[in-house]
Amino acid sequence: MDTNKIALVTGANKGIGKEIARQLGERGFTVLVGSRDAERGAVAAKELVAEGLDTRVLQLEVTDAASIRTAAGEVEATYGRLDVLVNNAAIIPEGDDGVSSIEAGVLRSAFETNVLGLVAVTQAFLPLLQRAGQARIVNLSTSLASFAQVGDPESRMSTVRTLGYNASKAAVNMVTVMLANELRGTGVLVNAADPGNCATDMGGWSAARTPAQGAAVAVRLAMLPADGPTGYVYAEEGQLPW
Ligand code: NAP
Repeated sequence: MDTNKIALVTGANKGIGKEIARQLGERGFTVLVGSRDAERGAVAAKELVAEGLDTRVLQLEVTDAASIRTAAGEVEATYGRLDVLVNNAAIIPEGDDGVSSIEAGVLRSAFETNVLGLVAVTQAFLPLLQRAGQARIVNLSTSLASFAQVGDPESRMSTVRTLGYNASKAAVNMVTVMLANELRGTGVLVNAADPGNCATDMGGWSAARTPAQGAAVAVRLAMLPADGPTGYVYAEEGQLPW
């Protein structure tokens, strides 16, 4: 029986997800490095193992029901529970655009990964999270999902024309609030983390923040005490306005 707490981070083969895996590993978690490509995930897990961390790869394609089922079955058989789920995997689909010109298929693909995938993964692992008692769920969000920020004409967020990404992440915020309500009083806390603009494949390599800085926001929410908040979205500087 593994005595470490067990954490799963989806899309952890690179970027902010890999950094979340690293920081949770440094805090004593056994970390399952979720990766849709098992080989890419194995390379990342090996890098973290070489740093002395207890990490292993878990093949997980969030849009594939069979992959999710198999992954949840493996975690159940090996650990019997899950203490932390970080829903990090997401895309800005190729061709993402403003409302007046986005193609339906592009909009659909953003929702497939960022919302339907996230909900399917959460549903599959929820029984294992509930079994852990004091589990934490962290969904990666963004200031591009904030109505207050995107709705402010003075904000840089109002100029970004990625409906697929923004709208799907706004839906992730609603998933966060609704699941927090469903699980209130059960010991499972559900929050969303805005890592800020970080230098990754998604964030662009000129972004000012490092993936490690972005990861820290999610890690704090993954380690909230029992009386911690539930149903909010946090950035480094505090609660983000809806
Ligand atoms: P990234 O470097 O593009 O990494 C995204 C990760 O998600 C990769 O591991 C990718 O796997 C995985 N992924 C994508 N689709 C998947 C699927 N269908 N199944 C499983 N895994 C999938 O992005 P990032 O910048 O680290 O972003 C991580 C999270 O932070 C995202 O939720 C993003 O929305 C959020 N965020 C990022 C920024 C930023 O500035 N970077 C700002 C705000 C919020 P592959 O390697 O196989 O593609």
